[in-house]
Amino acid sequence: MRSQMIWLLAAFAALSVSACAPSVSEASEQTVPSAEAATLAEGDSSAAGTAQPEGSASAGISGNSAVAESAGAAVRYVLRDGVNLRSSAEDGENVIGTLNTGDAVNATGTIIDNRWVQVLRKGKKAYIAKEYISETKPEAVAAGNSAGGSGDAAEESAKTADGAANGAGSAAGGKSAEIPDGTRISLDPSWTYAGNSAIHTGEAVLCKASANRRGITVCVNAGHGCSGGESKKTLSHPDGSPKVTGGTNSAGAVKSMAISGGMQFDDGTPEAKVNLAVARKLRDKLLAAGYDVLMIRDGDDVQLDNIARTVIANNRADCHIAIHYDSTSSDKGAFFMSVPDGSYKSMEPVASHWKQHEKLGESLISGLKDAGVKIFSGGSMDMDLTQTSYSTIPSVDIEVGDKASSHADASLEKIADGLCRGVSLYFGD
Ligand SMILES: [Zn+2]
Repeated sequence: MRSQMIWLLAAFAALSVSACAPSVSEASEQTVPSAEAATLAEGDSSAAGTAQPEGSASAGISGNSAVAESAGAAVRYVLRDGVNLRSSAEDGENVIGTLNTGDAVNATGTIIDNRWVQVLRKGKKAYIAKEYISETKPEAVAAGNSAGGSGDAAEESAKTADGAANGAGSAAGGKSAEIPDGTRISLDPSWTYAGNSAIHTGEAVLCKASANRRGITVCVNAGHGCSGGESKKTLSHPDGSPKVTGGTNSAGAVKSMAISGGMQFDDGTPEAKVNLAVARKLRDKLLAAGYDVLMIRDGDDVQLDNIARTVIANNRADCHIAIHYDSTSSDKGAFFMSVPDGSYKSMEPVASHWKQHEKLGESLISGLKDAGVKIFSGGSMDMDLTQTSYSTIPSVDIEVGDKASSHADASLEKIADGLCRGVSLYFGD
C-alpha cells in the first residue's frame, strides 16, 4: 500500500513536471551573434558590467561614516572553507564565488559597516565578511592544504558554508526557495562568466518537489542536445589559459567547442537521447525524494552551450550533475570526470571548488555501485572540462557507460536509481 502511495506521488510529480517541459529550440542559430566576436566582446562588457554595481555601491556609501579607510592595501587570508565572495557589501543574492581556508585575497584597505572587507579579485572589487579573514595564514593550511585530497574538507566546506546561497544547500531553502515550480530559467547576462557563453537563447526549467522538501536544488544536465554547438567556440577556461588534458577538445586549446554533439551507441542511437532518458528518470526520483530539480534540457534540443548550462546551474542549483556516456565501445562501466592535478587546481574557480567536485563524484560512484551499476576501474578519470572550469558549485560530469552499454529501460532505471542514491549520500541524507 505504502509503495503504491509512493508510486502515485512519483507519478504525480512526473505529470506536474511534464507540464513545465521547455519549448524545443525556439531560436535558430542566426539569432546568436557571431560566436568569436560575441565571446570576446561579451567577456569585455561583462567585466565592465560587473564594475558598475561596485561603483554605485561606493557612491552610495561615500558620504557614510561607516566606511573606514585603513593604512592601505594588504594581503589577507581566508580562515575557513566556503566563505562567500560578494559583489556588494551586504548579505543577499550577490555571491560571486566562494573561498576556502588559506586562500589569499588583496584587501584594498576599505572596510564597510565594520563588517565587510573590500578586496580585489582579478582587478574587480568584491566583499568578504570581516570575521572570516585574517592577516596571518591559518596554521593547518601552511602545513599543506594542496596535498589534502580528502573529501572531508569539501564536506566540511559544504556544511559550514556562509549564507544561504552557497555550496550544498542550506536550511534556508537553497537558491531556488522563492522561485515557483515550472519557472523557466534563462542565462542572466550579469551572472559571473555569463559573457563567455556563445549559445544561450534556451531555457532550463525548475521543477520543485511537492513533499518532503529538502531545500536543495540539483541541476540535472542531460549532456549534448544543442544544435549548432560544434560550430561555435568558447574559452576553455575563464582566464583564457589553455586546456591541460585532451578530450573532445585537445590539450593546449584556448578555445573549445561551445558544446559537442555527443556520440552514437553501437546500435546507432544518439547519446543525447539516452542522456535525456536517464535525466528524466533521475529528475522523477529526485523529486520523489524531496529534492528540487533544475532540468537543463527536457527535449531533443536546448540552445544552451556548456558555459550557459554551467552558469545557470551555478546560480540556481546547489550541485550540478551532467549525464553522459563515453565514446569507447568496451562497456567498461561508469566513472566520473575528476579534476586533474597541477596548475588546473590552482586556477579559479576550480581552486575553490575542486574538492567539492571530487566529493560529489565519489558519492555518485558509491550510489551507482550500491545500485549494481558496473564501475570502471577506480571510478574516475582526470579531465579538464568546460563544465569543471566554470563551476562554482559541486559539479560533476558522470559517464554512466559507453557505446556498448545497454540502454534498455531497466539499465537506465538502475543508473538513475544509483545517481539518486549518490545525491543523497553527498548531502548526508
Ligand atoms: Zn557525452
